[in-house]
Amino acid sequence: MGSLSKATDPESFLAWAAKVNYGLYLVQYKLDGASMELQYDDGVFVRGITRGDGEIGDDITQNVMRMHGVPKKLVAPFTGAVRGEVLMSRDIHATKYTDKANCRNAANGLMKRKDGVGAEDLDIICYDAVGSLPAGTAFATEQEKIAWLQRMGFNVVPTTGCGSPEEVVAYRAKIMDIRATLPYDIDGLVVKGDRIDPRDADKLRPELQIAFKFSPEEAVTTLMDVEWSESGATVTPIGVVEPVRLAGTTVQRANLANPGMIRLMDLRIRSKVVITKRGEIIPKIESLVENPPDAMPIVIPTQCSLCGTTLVDEDTRLYCPNQVCPGKAYHRLEKWLSVIDIKDIGSALLKRLFDAGKVVRIPDLYSLTVADLLSFERMGDKSAQKIVRNIKAQNKVSLSQFLAGFDIEGIGMLMADKLIAAGYDTLDKLFLASWSDFEGIDGFAEITAKALHSGLRLVEADMRELVNKGFVRIKSPPANASESESPVAGKYFCFTGELIAMKRAEAETLIRDNGGFVKSGVTKDLDYLVTNDPFSGSEKNRKAQEFAIKIINEEQFIAMLGRGTD
Ligand SMILES: [Zn+2]
Repeated sequence: MGSLSKATDPESFLAWAAKVNYGLYLVQYKLDGASMELQYDDGVFVRGITRGDGEIGDDITQNVMRMHGVPKKLVAPFTGAVRGEVLMSRDIHATKYTDKANCRNAANGLMKRKDGVGAEDLDIICYDAVGSLPAGTAFATEQEKIAWLQRMGFNVVPTTGCGSPEEVVAYRAKIMDIRATLPYDIDGLVVKGDRIDPRDADKLRPELQIAFKFSPEEAVTTLMDVEWSESGATVTPIGVVEPVRLAGTTVQRANLANPGMIRLMDLRIRSKVVITKRGEIIPKIESLVENPPDAMPIVIPTQCSLCGTTLVDEDTRLYCPNQVCPGKAYHRLEKWLSVIDIKDIGSALLKRLFDAGKVVRIPDLYSLTVADLLSFERMGDKSAQKIVRNIKAQNKVSLSQFLAGFDIEGIGMLMADKLIAAGYDTLDKLFLASWSDFEGIDGFAEITAKALHSGLRLVEADMRELVNKGFVRIKSPPANASESESPVAGKYFCFTGELIAMKRAEAETLIRDNGGFVKSGVTKDLDYLVTNDPFSGSEKNRKAQEFAIKIINEEQFIAMLGRGTD
């Protein structure tokens, strides 16, 4: 009797089940107690011995005699061992042993006491018997064994048959749900086939059965509501669940991914569900436990809440197809600010400016005045001036930033770079191309090519306005950089701490004039962090080290600009 192999999530259980491939899975509670062997000689109880992982332990016969569930004489002439767990019920623990952290600790303390005090508060629940019975009365299957144990007067572990591995997973979720109401602590299930294989059971690690344990990263709760959150064009369902403890935190919301998941799992309002948090930041609803009779259907929205357009439900994605939907327009502004790295406008301020119709398109950002800002947010004159100044300062961008900033479906920086590498290195070339010109570029299948083509049509006017009014200048991309170009060209810089030879604004101007870019914060795509104090322990230093970004000092920076330090 060794320790069982373990699975703590459905995935690893299903992998095991695929190997053993039983027609019937017998599922038993995994009792959280102390293992015990009751020895019988010709039907008479002779000895009670504790058992650890494959080891014979202490003889505690005197105490075992006083525990519940140990018949002293069997009605069959059985010689061998009956195995089970010594347990304390939750009721007894709650009324008599609250000084012990849990039932198992309390049971462990009592079962080995020399004076035997308290042994009568313990129960033995059995699940196994090995030994000899008269011919014709022995058992060939686990079910027969459990029935025999019951006939002999033992308390037996609850046992259920499941026809498929999936049924076992669903059964485990149900037990997880009622776990707190069971009379004894259990920490999972034991799953085995019906046919008895004594050779396997005696292995140090039996392979034909598995402990399918509960995990602290899983919980069962009730789905109370579904909220639909809009991000750009996509509408995503978020489950609101009855608050439940999960991996050390209280969880009230869980990811539902898309309408397809709701249909696939047959989720409804008031469904009992398993939610998990395995490394992800937001927990997700993993499976349905059951739908109570009063469960209500989840209404999947059919219209965009922002523009009223009929939503497209592709099962794996629900979205508003209206290219000029305000949701899309707002998302575009957010994207632009992030790609161009303008951090001064927070999302609260942007939302107010957007709702008031003051900033709806990207060019609107560049016409924003100090007076506009002062009328929208309680802020000082200086802060408002800083925002306006910083928007205007970030006026040189690469073509790939420019394209990615317009939030065209499927076109991020990486795809923009591929377009440029394929020769579409000016806005005019992009506007003149047909969708079939884009098809065939590395990474551009028909759908992306068409989305790019129609996306460009929609933003062409705004793009031209930005350039023609001089709000933004597009730098020639690094791919086309000539050899004589500065080593600063196309590189991203960030500063922290004081500079000695020049003011920071001066340094930033030098970078932009040499074709480089300035960022206000340290992100993964940064090339250099410039600081005269690399050991300052500042947030920027810490992050630069985390992302393995080159940290250079002012002298090295000036050398890159080719100006010398004298
Ligand atoms: Zn819409």
